[in-house]
Amino acid sequence: MTAAVGVLALQGDYEAHAKALQRCGAAPSEVRRVAQLEGLAGLVIPGGESTTLLNLMRDEPWFEALRGFHARGGSVFGTCAGAILVSREVRHPSQDSLGLLDAAIERNAYGRQVDSFETNLEVAGLPAPLSVAFIRAPRFVALGAGVEVMARHAEAPVLVRQGRVVAATFHPEITGADGLHAWWLGTLA
Ligand code: GLN
Repeated sequence: MTAAVGVLALQGDYEAHAKALQRCGAAPSEVRRVAQLEGLAGLVIPGGESTTLLNLMRDEPWFEALRGFHARGGSVFGTCAGAILVSREVRHPSQDSLGLLDAAIERNAYGRQVDSFETNLEVAGLPAPLSVAFIRAPRFVALGAGVEVMARHAEAPVLVRQGRVVAATFHPEITGADGLHAWWLGTLA
């Protein structure tokens, strides 16, 4: 039996993540209320627009709930805007974040010319390169000693892990390559 997983469904690319998890054999729930975190082993925080996400999170005590979820053993997989949200420090500009990952991250770090692109990434521990999309992507600008780099693009870390927190600056859910979702499900208790 696969672990109970959810996708934060307030804003952004949650449907594509849910479909990727389904293709890997999970039955993800769409999490729109704090109470729906109950009983989950893992939560995906999808890409989208982190400022919009932050605004929507004012309706309920999301920060407290997500920090509590993580502290009680829940795993969090943040992609793009989700990676921004889980980081300790956000730059360009500075904004609130959950601080679950010991990292500083800069928003929209790839500039206008290369706002969005697709590429194949070699990921430590995955059998095949992963086809992914960078869309107005952020960039990690500092990582704490406890943060493991799982993949780099042009030398910059783009996929990192610190215990039960995994963060990708790209979108792994758009191209139909489900290797990372399958791997993440395998990490859940
Ligand atoms: N640029 C967005 C932000 O700063 C993130 C983009 C994405 O999630 N694709 O929140």
